[in-house]
Amino acid sequence: MTYWNWTLDPVRDSDGRIVQIVETVTEITSQVHARQKVEEDKVLLEQEKRDLETEQKRLKVIENIEVVARSVRDSLDIQSISKALIQAIITNFDPLVVYIHRADAAQQALHLLQIHPQPLQEDALRLLQYVPYGTSSYLASVHKQRDPIILEDLQFEVAQEWFAGEGRLPQSYVHGYICVPLWFGDHFEGALTAVLKERISVNDPLVQALTRSSVYIAAALTQARLHTVVKAEQERLRAVLDQLPEGILIVEATNDTITYANAAAEQILGLPIHSLLDSPITSYWGIEIVSKTDIRLPWNFVITEALGGSTVRSQEAILTRTDGSKVIVLGSAAPLRSTDGAITGMLLVFQDITAQKSVEQHKKAFLSIASHELRTPIAAIQGFAEILQVQASKEQKLSPQGLRAITFINEQSQSLTRLIEEMLDITRIEIAQLQLDIATHDLASTIAHVIETQATTAPEHHLQFVLDGLPSPAKLMGKFDENRIVQVLNNLISNAVKYSSVGSNIEVGLRRCSGNADNALIWVKDSGIGISAHELPHIFKRFHRANNIDPSISGLGIGLYLVQELVTCHGGRVWAESTEKSGSTFYVQLPLHMEHPAPQLN
Ligand code: ADP
Repeated sequence: MTYWNWTLDPVRDSDGRIVQIVETVTEITSQVHARQKVEEDKVLLEQEKRDLETEQKRLKVIENIEVVARSVRDSLDIQSISKALIQAIITNFDPLVVYIHRADAAQQALHLLQIHPQPLQEDALRLLQYVPYGTSSYLASVHKQRDPIILEDLQFEVAQEWFAGEGRLPQSYVHGYICVPLWFGDHFEGALTAVLKERISVNDPLVQALTRSSVYIAAALTQARLHTVVKAEQERLRAVLDQLPEGILIVEATNDTITYANAAAEQILGLPIHSLLDSPITSYWGIEIVSKTDIRLPWNFVITEALGGSTVRSQEAILTRTDGSKVIVLGSAAPLRSTDGAITGMLLVFQDITAQKSVEQHKKAFLSIASHELRTPIAAIQGFAEILQVQASKEQKLSPQGLRAITFINEQSQSLTRLIEEMLDITRIEIAQLQLDIATHDLASTIAHVIETQATTAPEHHLQFVLDGLPSPAKLMGKFDENRIVQVLNNLISNAVKYSSVGSNIEVGLRRCSGNADNALIWVKDSGIGISAHELPHIFKRFHRANNIDPSISGLGIGLYLVQELVTCHGGRVWAESTEKSGSTFYVQLPLHMEHPAPQLN
């Protein structure tokens, strides 16, 4: 095709009449093409501009939704999260219905969180309120997939009835449908659904906006769900603390103020909870810690210790209430740490032991009076029995029966005296009044002496003294209370005699401790009934007797308790190794150069 420019110009005579016509024809194809091109370009440019504007608008909208989704990510209230999101969607788009569901893994169902418009017809709402995964609907099946369900036009969907399960909207004007599963990592948190009057496609801004926001909403739902779990756990813990019979105080590390006090604390301290809360713990001056030696320390010592990272256990304290009454409490304090180990506060636990204390005091008073009252008559019986025994053997006036009776009285009163002494020792230990008389002695000769006397009282056993690695004649000098060590050895050897058969060997040994030559190691080994593994940890407890012993063997179960206390007072330790039915070995590790007695422990 060619384009031409035609021009007809008249040629006139002197009168003005047209006499000729000049026809000019110019080909202008290239100019026309050039002009057409310019116009086409202009149209294209305008179209591109319009497209750009639409895309910008689309991105803006997507961004808007994303911003909302992002902003709710840290919110902990699921309802406000979903409300904000739905608001953002309806402001930017015009969906028929939009709803958010929360997944309930335990019930395998979705619960409706928010829906717009509100209220929807009641029956439709009921269908959406609770959607078990087994229901036949798109929404119920979304937990099985990671990608959104996008239906461009419900009118053309084969499984149209699936929508009926969740829709109940006039079917004819419902077209687009999108349901986005909300996944956070491996956890399915719920679903976000929108139903539209228009058809939709994958590239629609709404589809894009919902898809992109899903991860933020899922994160927000996860956070809120975990928060609910933690909160429920906290409340459970708090309910436990509230109910505990022990007083509990929680103190903040930064300012020493009490942030939690339970009912028992209120009752023990005699102060209402509201006056305890937010007040500094250091303001309770009416509390003194009582040490074993009856020294009283201000109780903020415990607070300093706990905030410094140490755990303070079972401290007795005397608490003077505002009304002047006194309560004895047993308290422990421990630091509270955050996950990175920093001390954030401390926990104080205390119980009122006033009643137990007074019972204990009465018990002690009774025991000490009773022991003294018993000691005097027994000493008299024993003394007179000895006199009679001596007289009888001199004058030979008594019948053999009478002589046996007096010997029996003598032996029995001796064992009664021993028993009373042991009970007195227990009282002394309890009230921390057991004094040691430390002096330098030869431990080898102390042991030899004990063996000698024991050999006369237990002639049917073979007592053997083994000195291991000591020079001859054996000597091992050390500082100890000789009477107390004799008591320890007597107890261990008489047990070995009691719990092994007549005629068997008992080995008493002495050597320096390997690796610690300043300590002596004494052992008493028998081949008797032994102690079972489950009884072994208990035999040093007061009044404990193992169940394999013959009940006719006399004993109260306090000998080993005293042995342990006496050895501990010397700074040493005692333990036993045993195999049932083949024998036991008791070991005593004793420091040889103890200058000061170790503090007594109960
Ligand atoms: P008891 O007066 O009963 O002998 P102890 O305190 O001396 O009290 O000992 C506690 C318990 O330990 C005993 O009752 C016994 O069961 C067990 N026991 C102590 N020594 C021996 C031993 N040498 N052999 C076996 N059992 C022993």
